[in-house]
Amino acid sequence: MPFKALHLSESVLRGVQAAGYTDPTPIQLRAIPAVLSGNDVIASAQTGTGKTAAFALPVLTRLGAHGRTRVLVLEPTRELAAQVETAFRDFARFTDLRTVAIFGGVGYGSQRAELKRGVDIIVATPGRLMDYLKERTLSLQDINILILDEVDRMLDMGFLPAVKDIIARCPRERQTLFFSATVPPEIAAIASFALRNPTRVEVGVARSVTESVSHALYPVAHDQKFELLVALLEKTDFDSVLVFSRTKHGADKIARRLKAANHSVAVLHANRSQNQRIEALAGFKSGKYEVMVATDIAARGIDVAGVSHVINYDVPEKPEDYVHRIGRTGRAQAVGDAFTLVTPENAGDIRDIQRFIGQKIPELKLEGFNYQPITARPAHVAGPAAGVRTKPSRQGGWNRFGGGGGRRRARY
Ligand code: AMP
Repeated sequence: MPFKALHLSESVLRGVQAAGYTDPTPIQLRAIPAVLSGNDVIASAQTGTGKTAAFALPVLTRLGAHGRTRVLVLEPTRELAAQVETAFRDFARFTDLRTVAIFGGVGYGSQRAELKRGVDIIVATPGRLMDYLKERTLSLQDINILILDEVDRMLDMGFLPAVKDIIARCPRERQTLFFSATVPPEIAAIASFALRNPTRVEVGVARSVTESVSHALYPVAHDQKFELLVALLEKTDFDSVLVFSRTKHGADKIARRLKAANHSVAVLHANRSQNQRIEALAGFKSGKYEVMVATDIAARGIDVAGVSHVINYDVPEKPEDYVHRIGRTGRAQAVGDAFTLVTPENAGDIRDIQRFIGQKIPELKLEGFNYQPITARPAHVAGPAAGVRTKPSRQGGWNRFGGGGGRRRARY
């Protein structure tokens, strides 16, 4: 079914055409009619499935022409707020609708000026939005469409109190849309007070890894991780590589060492200033930096065309983050590769990830590299390496490490 058959307005259809979209993605096919009908919607869809357009296109169609501030989109990170606002603006380019991105880390001046000038759509992170609400620069009294994007991540980041406060400031008569990669019980709970009789839209299996990505595990001893990263970068014919670290400190350290090894590197994590984050993303997108080292929170949902490789320097702690990280490559039609460095201590996490995505991730070894065998705990690693968080071994063999799984399984 083409976009034309979806009852979007003419001007929005022109925006879609200008964006170069040909056919709607599955989430767009299912969510657009539901949103156009005015129903509340809970959609589970991972990033990279085209979910921004799935809500932006019908919302713009419903708005029609410029008027009061009627749409509020909440996003968990500044980068996502900027990205989603840009998408709205692009799709709305043949309308007179106005959008603004509201997020912290930058001055208040231009955001205040935009709000005063009058906007139809606000795309915001909760913290900065609350600032404007408290100082009464902004009121949500005319909001009739409220969208919570990446709700699971928003809750993980501790935004629940602010989100509840913001929902309570919106009129009760409104349409509410929830988009989330996963729908754990906490989300079902806030959905029950924020949404009325929602239509559920689930696309494919929210746990699946995009088919256009080939992914593999690279077993390695803990103290050889950096060497393996450098070796992979050397061996791989990459255009741009996103390297994931579990911690901000780790990300800085990897970046420092890669720079010393003559790679051009950007870093993206929550402790960097807004200007540094903007510069890092812009530089990575333009090709100035061939490698970007990021943490999960900073990189969630970020859409960078042409990421050819994702390297998980650290195995993600939560199985769903594996899907999100891998989703950075192979977006839309592009084909990408994703590698995960696995040390013996990660056995439990890998098992959880494989169970979560419902498939075994193939193991690869780099010729001539000094790997640890993945099927047996190496003899010389008698105990945990200094500073390494390990999990209790129930049965000795590292691939049978227990721990972690039971607690997390309960969430899904
Ligand atoms: P999203 O899941 O919204 O972050 O979108 C992922 C990527 O897919 C973005 O680069 C979009 O521009 C692109 N995209 C979304 N919908 C379509 C479509 N129908 N046709 C082609 N590309 C799309």
